[in-house]
Amino acid sequence: MSALPGARPVRANRGTTLTAKSWATEAPLRMLQNNLDPEVAEDPDNLVVYGGTGKAARDWKSFDAISRSLIDMEQDETLLVQSGKPVGILRTHEWAPRVLIANSNLVGDWANWPEFRRLEAMGLTMYGQMTAGSWIYIGSQGIVQGTYETFAAVADKRFGGSLAGTLTLTAGLGGMGGAQPLAVTLNGGVALCIEVDPHRARRRVETRYLDIVADSLDHGVELALRAKAARTPLSVAVIGNAADIVPELLRRGVDVDIVTDQTSAHDPLWYLPSGVSLEDWHDYAERKPEEFTDRARDSMATHVEAMVGFMDGGAEVFDYGNSIRGEAKLAGYQRSFDFPGFVPAYIRPLFAEGKGPFRWAALSGDPKDIYATDVAVREMFPDNEKLQRWMRLAPEKIAFQGLPARICWLGAGERHLAGVRFNEMVADGQISAPLAIGRDHLDSGSVASPYRETEAMADGSDAIADWPLLNALVNTASGASWVSIHHGGGVGIGRSIHAGQVCVADGTELAGRKLERVLTNDPATGVLRHVDAGYPEAEVAAERTGLVIPMSVT
Ligand code: NAD
Repeated sequence: MSALPGARPVRANRGTTLTAKSWATEAPLRMLQNNLDPEVAEDPDNLVVYGGTGKAARDWKSFDAISRSLIDMEQDETLLVQSGKPVGILRTHEWAPRVLIANSNLVGDWANWPEFRRLEAMGLTMYGQMTAGSWIYIGSQGIVQGTYETFAAVADKRFGGSLAGTLTLTAGLGGMGGAQPLAVTLNGGVALCIEVDPHRARRRVETRYLDIVADSLDHGVELALRAKAARTPLSVAVIGNAADIVPELLRRGVDVDIVTDQTSAHDPLWYLPSGVSLEDWHDYAERKPEEFTDRARDSMATHVEAMVGFMDGGAEVFDYGNSIRGEAKLAGYQRSFDFPGFVPAYIRPLFAEGKGPFRWAALSGDPKDIYATDVAVREMFPDNEKLQRWMRLAPEKIAFQGLPARICWLGAGERHLAGVRFNEMVADGQISAPLAIGRDHLDSGSVASPYRETEAMADGSDAIADWPLLNALVNTASGASWVSIHHGGGVGIGRSIHAGQVCVADGTELAGRKLERVLTNDPATGVLRHVDAGYPEAEVAAERTGLVIPMSVT
């Protein structure tokens, strides 16, 4: 795709010299820049960070205006960003967020892709995905631990705690999907990944997420089966279309144990239909979006039908949060929802306890700052075995992209301890510059998404979207540095509403108080949401963390 006007390389400032007037505004500025770092973003010239068309700013003029605003703002001012465009700076107070963001939101009856694209073409909105438009994307690492935990849960459920000797078949090696091969091999397994764009596959090899790109399908299958037989971890990419190759592998009877998918199925213009070449893809999608959508959905139906075929043959099959089942259903494939989404299958008990993907980035740009936090986290939670294992593996296996960053799943009763400790480390110089501490929107209390995070809730509340809105309001009221409310992330327009928050640990006493409050209240909304839905694990977490629930039955 050709670059948007004004495109240029962007990289976050490093070190302790401020461009803005304080760290409160320097932090969002560096994180916005970092989202667009060519090491981080999938298509920075078009401001696309990840997840199909998930963007950091509406256009380059907006990017410049946001940057200028953050540079000039005082500590009692708040910038309003409407779908990637800065629309005002208002006087607030120092506990208020410095930036409030609303991305891609549409009124219910208008919330569909054709209407969204019409408004986008008029220059009125942009697709913010989850962490792209809220400036806390940290590259594939952001998803790798969640992916690792998901595959660990699959291993626990079906394969005696390890993926050794198993073969996982998946597709899509983009910003998020690129974490799959590493997550599988970290769990001891073999991954065969179908990716249509050789450039994407090679990028994963360069960043050490993928071991090898096979010369052909036969070569890929041979390598994968040999490694499976030898119980040696290996990840192999095969270049081709998943809608052709997944059914072909089923037809050949290849012995696959686990099947999932992370193509950008949530947006049919970003799933390449069978029979369309890589070169023609975006031009065709732009010229004939309706025809392209129909063809993409038909291909997804073929792809999902093959996944169901593997399930019928005994494989563990799950939807990895990209809406491919919903799209296949729209094409008329009736068994689309025969296999579950990954949240009800593996993640819900963690969400019920308020656990989710906590992350932080070193604004200094110095990896040593992250290594210091790695040690601190291990010291803080010595009894959490899974966390200990992850925090040992991550520094060894994860290549940083852009500003050094780390992710680990922490929950209610834990996150505020980490946040306050990190702030103390900034204050006493163990860390050389402030940290931005945030999380994915895919979290326990911050999202309503009936095909993903809130699929099959115990009380049927899958589509109730009050919870993410309450979450954003609570974080605004508690002192977060920037807060965002988005629509359509992960699973596409019309299918989700979600919220994000980021806090700055700048070593000041005020930052410590804000961190304590936000990182207590933010995961608490996840516990409350799951108590309300009737999850016993949530009741226990509420009791443990001392939450006050006016209508609690216990
Ligand atoms: P991306 O757009 O960066 O990458 C998608 C990849 O799929 C691209 O490399 C593309 O070439 C490839 N692809 C498209 N059609 C294909 C086909 N027919 N066959 C083979 N490859 C094909 O997207 P991403 O950031 O990697 O996200 C992938 C999906 O996962 C999105 O739908 C996203 O919303 C979803 N997602 C899931 C989670 C989660 O936690 N499970 C989190 C974030 C995003």
